[in-house]
Amino acid sequence: MFFQKREYPLTAENVKKAVVVAGRGAEVLRDVAGIQAELLDGKHHPCPNCGGKDRFRVVDVRAGEVFCNHGCFGGRKKADVLAVVQTMRDVTFSEAVQMVAEYVGVKALGDNLRDSHFSFSKKHYVKNETENEKIVKKPPCKPKHDLVPEKPKAARKPVRVTHYDYEDGAGLPHLRVTRWDYADGTKEVRPSHWDAERGEYVPGIAGQLRVPFNAVEVKEAEIVFFVEGEKCAAALKAYLTQEVLAEMNPPCFPDEVAVTCVIGGVNGFTQELAVWFLGKTVYILPDHDNPGYRFAWEVKRKIEQAAVKHERPSQVTVFRWQPETPEKWDIADALEEYPDDVNHAVERSYA
Ligand SMILES: [Zn+2]
Repeated sequence: MFFQKREYPLTAENVKKAVVVAGRGAEVLRDVAGIQAELLDGKHHPCPNCGGKDRFRVVDVRAGEVFCNHGCFGGRKKADVLAVVQTMRDVTFSEAVQMVAEYVGVKALGDNLRDSHFSFSKKHYVKNETENEKIVKKPPCKPKHDLVPEKPKAARKPVRVTHYDYEDGAGLPHLRVTRWDYADGTKEVRPSHWDAERGEYVPGIAGQLRVPFNAVEVKEAEIVFFVEGEKCAAALKAYLTQEVLAEMNPPCFPDEVAVTCVIGGVNGFTQELAVWFLGKTVYILPDHDNPGYRFAWEVKRKIEQAAVKHERPSQVTVFRWQPETPEKWDIADALEEYPDDVNHAVERSYA
């Protein structure tokens, strides 16, 4: 049951959904279908398949849907991204599904989920290996980010409620992390996802494709700072003003740089997230503890694997705090501790 829930079968629907969620329709048309970028601006153009003067246009950039008056793509005037790939590449439908899935990382998603949760099930197994009946009764421990969120206990009134919205690659509502801070210093963090029909966020993100925090910016950026948690991301983003970026080596513009993190803490980097970082320079700034570093190296490994597979080299650097740094220290702590001299503090702190 545990694993069934995590299966993402490679169906045409799942692949099309992945394209929409990532907002990468136009990229698929360009890179997978091989259509010239000039034809993908939504205006009327000659059809890349049947020519003419103005019979072709993209009708949905997110989904990669196009229109050809001659019905080139599968016989219908309006065609989805899979029909376009199939026609343009002259492949079978299932080959087209496979090609697009590969490009957006859907197949890897299924593989990876089994992979990344092996440690959970193994741990559970070892613990219970002589008590088989317990395994049947009790499901293995679930990773935190997949728990269905409950309302915080009624008796406790949070002193602060913070929402972190994870929009998709097209800037539309997709996932949300809500954090409740209590007077005693404890917190609860729960994810939810956007239900388009209801027009609101609903608890849980099981079955949803993950996107990185600040997805639109990540998509456009050349340099991405990857941190652990939204609080760090927000703090670092606020710090990286135009003035600060101008002094970086090399200097860069704000739109060339993004700050991101993922849902689910140190268990949150699923393989479909890796494709967001292809061809980019990625700096991972982990929390100063063992889970933080392990996570950082796992993120690096997954991005580099995807980079090889997709032939889009990424340069991923994992920073390490100086050994004397307090346990669990993170970039938000550094920015708080050294607001006047943060550049120096960060450089000094990281080896
Ligand atoms: Zn045509």
